[in-house]
Amino acid sequence: MDNKITSLFKTKYPIIQGGMIWNSGWKLASSVSNSGGLGLIGAGSMYPDVFREHIQKCKKATNKPFGVNLPMIYPQMDELLDIIIAEKVKIVFTSAGNPKKYTDFFHENDIIVTHVVPGVKYAVKAQEAGVDAVVAEGFEAGGHNGRDETTTLCLIPMVKKEIDIPLIAAGGIGTGEGMLASMILGADGVQMGSRFAASEEASSHVNFKEEIVKAQDGSTQLTLKDITPVRLIKNKFYDEINQAIINGATLEQQKEILGRGRAKKGMFEGNLDEGELEIGQVAGLIDSIQPVSAIIKAIITEYEQALADINSRKYHF
Ligand code: NDP
Ligand code: NDP
Repeated sequence: MDNKITSLFKTKYPIIQGGMIWNSGWKLASSVSNSGGLGLIGAGSMYPDVFREHIQKCKKATNKPFGVNLPMIYPQMDELLDIIIAEKVKIVFTSAGNPKKYTDFFHENDIIVTHVVPGVKYAVKAQEAGVDAVVAEGFEAGGHNGRDETTTLCLIPMVKKEIDIPLIAAGGIGTGEGMLASMILGADGVQMGSRFAASEEASSHVNFKEEIVKAQDGSTQLTLKDITPVRLIKNKFYDEINQAIINGATLEQQKEILGRGRAKKGMFEGNLDEGELEIGQVAGLIDSIQPVSAIIKAIITEYEQALADINSRKYHF
């Protein structure tokens, strides 16, 4: 496959692994890159020293391109930027903030910048800021999500109409069929999170991975819309916060119930009752925990089979 995304990132496939907090350490990122995709280290859950260590280990584990995901609301951004420059990271995905802030800085340092957006106006803003590519992430996605609840099926063609730079689809894509569908809608590549969270190499707790495998349709829901919208598996913590919201809890009361470090508790420590379990709707299609190499191989096989089916009589009227 040779297209705008494989040319931009110098990868074999236009498949990017989401930089998910607590899931995306160096093992996952390097395995994805070694298997022909683009692996991303998720900086959001890493203190600066941890972040540096993961980059250094990733560089040792792969000689293929890899990148980092930086949520701009991170409290010590300047320290992370220094590490990125010192360690010569060449690909950065930014999210949760204004892309105007750092894009010029990254380009001055010869770094490719991709920005993650949940809606058309943010995509246009990212293009105006000069980013090299945009990830448009729909309502189906796990973790933090847009307030407008636009689904990937609608978001991708809407964004495609408004921007010229390479477009990566995210949210609800976990299979080769989903990848082909996204590309038919106008994407040049895909970013997948959930399918890689259920990989052997993800840094998350095995309890969390097993919960992903158990998930069905309706197992996840977007909540905490007054604080930061986030899609979670409906566990005990979800029920507690959801009931409080239904009962009219104030913002302060919701923040108190949320507390601190819930994502770590759920995904990293494997506390399935008290933690946040951030995963996308596509978890309902994931039925085993596999090594990354097998996941990417399966996605490519599914993609090629779906493409062959489209070209055969199957879809002709
Ligand atoms: P903030 O209140 O933090 O916004 C700060 C500034 O950054 C605003 O000028 C805002 O633009 C801009 N901005 C924020 N996010 C983006 C973005 N993705 N692309 C371009 N500009 C952005 O932001 P909100 O809490 O209102 O969140 C904005 C959106 O980002 C929401 O849909 C939210 O759910 C999502 N988000 C995504 C996260 C992720 O990691 N993927 C994490 C947190 C939020 P403006 O004034 O035009 O709104
Ligand atoms: P909380 O405020 O509840 O807790 C902070 C967590 O982040 C703690 O577990 C802490 O680890 C860890 N952490 C890592 N580095 C730092 C640092 N420099 N300063 C403070 N804490 C740090 O936040 P959340 O767990 O909900 O979210 C953490 C980050 O991840 C945020 O930036 C958030 O926007 C981002 N995020 C991004 C998502 C995405 O979709 N891209 C999804 C969800 C969150 P410890 O417990 O060891 O102190």
